[in-house]
Amino acid sequence: MLDSLVAWFQENQRPLPWRVSYDPYQVWVSEVMLQQTQVETALPYYERFIREFPTIESLAKAKEERVLTLWAGLGYYQRAKNLTAAAGEVVSKHGGEIPSDYDALIRLPGIGQYMAGAILSIAFNKAYPVVDGNVRRVLSRINGWTEDDTKTLWDAATRLVHEAEPRLVNQALMELGAKICSFKSPRCLLCPVQSSCIAFRVGMQDKIPPVKKRPATVHVHLFAVVHKKDDRYLMKPADGMWEFPMFSALPAGSFEKIGECRHTITHHRLDVTVCEGELTERSGLEWKRIDDAAISSLTRKVWDLAKELGDRTGEAR
Ligand code: SF4
Repeated sequence: MLDSLVAWFQENQRPLPWRVSYDPYQVWVSEVMLQQTQVETALPYYERFIREFPTIESLAKAKEERVLTLWAGLGYYQRAKNLTAAAGEVVSKHGGEIPSDYDALIRLPGIGQYMAGAILSIAFNKAYPVVDGNVRRVLSRINGWTEDDTKTLWDAATRLVHEAEPRLVNQALMELGAKICSFKSPRCLLCPVQSSCIAFRVGMQDKIPPVKKRPATVHVHLFAVVHKKDDRYLMKPADGMWEFPMFSALPAGSFEKIGECRHTITHHRLDVTVCEGELTERSGLEWKRIDDAAISSLTRKVWDLAKELGDRTGEAR
């Protein structure tokens, strides 16, 4: 099974920039971006990031706000903060060399069992397993596991990574999950491990792995206020980033509704009414040029509505 899987990967792998030289810093940045994000979405972010911070030293010296600006839109901003803090530690404690041993890696901010395994196997070709959502799905289906058991999954991944080149085994499992063994419609007829797959044999691909229960969606209604003077906006600092002030009810001031937008964060669905006007109470807010600011996807949606209004009314914004 493993031989066919690895051979399939070698033939079909996507040509991704971090696969050219398997530079540890590039592999690390890519893996951090790929947590919770698909390759196609992450790629332009990765390219911009590496262009601005081509080495771990350059990232270690970077201002957090600049890193967050480049990360804006990818979400889960704590990842970027941890990456920047960890780059600082690699430079100050490890002479700029990313550690190639598990115990040192796992002590860096933001690095857990998955990330350490990914860096050690993909960058250093060491036999450490990885189990992400793709690997979980592929291994569960091949082995016909109808119940989730974390230890069983990691044990199986550990056995496999010792049986062939670790870099290839782990990436092949992840790539198969991403490209062939998808959650909703696995393309079993094209699958290199079909003859070894129990889920395929018994026709249970749609039952394996078991679907994890998601928390119920929580609906939240907010008002975002766009208060503008020249080319600056009144904005609120939020954990290294900037956002338009948001309220559960319209605050004191004079406003005009300019549109609505919707945004989902984990299981929260935010319906946001966007208003433009003047806020009476401005404490905790600062005038900010948006071009210089690290802003989230939600803030960008609000800003897009404000810009659209500016275009319609002919006002330069
Ligand atoms: S045969 Fe189908 S279910 Fe089994 S690993 Fe391949 S794509 Fe997934």
